[in-house]
Amino acid sequence: MPEHQNSGIDSLGNLKGKRVLVRSDLNVPLDGSTITDDGRVRASVPTIRALADAGARVVVVAHLGRPKGEPDPAYSLGPVAERLGELLGSPVAFATDTVGESATETVEGLEDGQVAVLENVRFNPGETSKEDEIRMAFASELAKLADAFVSDGFGVVHRKQASVYDIAQLLPHAMGQLVATEIDVLRRLTVDPERPYVVVLGGSKVSDKLGVIDNLLTKADKLLIGGGMVFTFLAAQGHEVGNSLLEEDQVQVCRDYLERAGETGVEIVLPSDVVVDTEFPSGDREPQPRVVAASEIPSDGLGLDIGPESGAAFAAELADARTVFWNGPMGVFEVDAFAEGTRAVADALTRASGLTVVGGGDSAAAVRKLGFDESAFGHISTGGGASLEYLEGKELPGIAVLER
Ligand code: ADP
Ligand code: MG
Repeated sequence: MPEHQNSGIDSLGNLKGKRVLVRSDLNVPLDGSTITDDGRVRASVPTIRALADAGARVVVVAHLGRPKGEPDPAYSLGPVAERLGELLGSPVAFATDTVGESATETVEGLEDGQVAVLENVRFNPGETSKEDEIRMAFASELAKLADAFVSDGFGVVHRKQASVYDIAQLLPHAMGQLVATEIDVLRRLTVDPERPYVVVLGGSKVSDKLGVIDNLLTKADKLLIGGGMVFTFLAAQGHEVGNSLLEEDQVQVCRDYLERAGETGVEIVLPSDVVVDTEFPSGDREPQPRVVAASEIPSDGLGLDIGPESGAAFAAELADARTVFWNGPMGVFEVDAFAEGTRAVADALTRASGLTVVGGGDSAAAVRKLGFDESAFGHISTGGGASLEYLEGKELPGIAVLER
């Protein structure tokens, strides 16, 4: 990652004995206090370990879920801190608040090379406040705990938040390894990508991804579309979509995309078949998947995956791609009966020879849930929103502030 060598943790000089506050993204899915996917914790380890190895006293700050600016035990980072300790191979200290007595004492108790995790930063209203002054006041409290700041929470760099943005204005700062790698990969997707460049988009809503579709319509060679958003595209082509997810207010937008693609020479590939059921899957009912043509979705049909023919067609499109960006599962992969389309795309990515990037929290979780070896992909991004905003061409405040 040559472009960021000068801004990496080495740029902070000798770290021995220094307190370094690292903003990590430890926002993992929890079932009670059990972590169901620890991908983000693992992705945070290299920077934390590098800082500890350099003799720093490492203070990890992170958020979990969306608590309402006050302590809420359901969102405690306690279990995550424990998992981090397991992955680091040595226990980490845990402060039961973020900037209070416990945090101060915990940080004071650290020896060189030791790691502490502070309680969920979003238990403090200042973290996400829209008021610059309130955020900055909270960032100042955080800054008292450290001599330097390392930004490594890629999943939050698109947020103007105290522990991401404001704090970088208060302390000597550097980019962590995860953020540097993510930005580097995203740059390769936008600056002169190797061709053919194929983008696969899925997930639930087309309205979440309008900006990125807009931008990629001028960059990619092919856009393969699946997931919940595909039904708005099918409707735009004049098809009935039964009870499938449909965003009426986006039909015209999708129609425009289909037209523009024709003009710019980008090929938009929609599925020819889909898997439907009559109900959205729920715990107490056995799914009844049925494959139908995408142009003949019955009125009681609810599209939950792309069909096998489409899965094979998408895989064929991906086979000779030199650059692939994939965001959004092809179906409701959480349920086995509707996971095959996602599996087909994931499998095709593992076989493609060029740069393959998986972006999006659910897409990354899908890859792991379906049992794929993560190392078979070029890069699995930890930040859905951040990578999408980058690909939309937006400035990421948490990156811009480091480069200033
Ligand atoms: P990512 O986090 O990778 O960006 P999204 O959050 O956009 O992905 O979408 C993921 C969600 O989309 C999954 O929970 C999945 O169940 C849902 N989804 C996929 N296909 C459909 C569909 N046909 N109907 C409803 N939801 C869908
Ligand atoms: Mg998601």
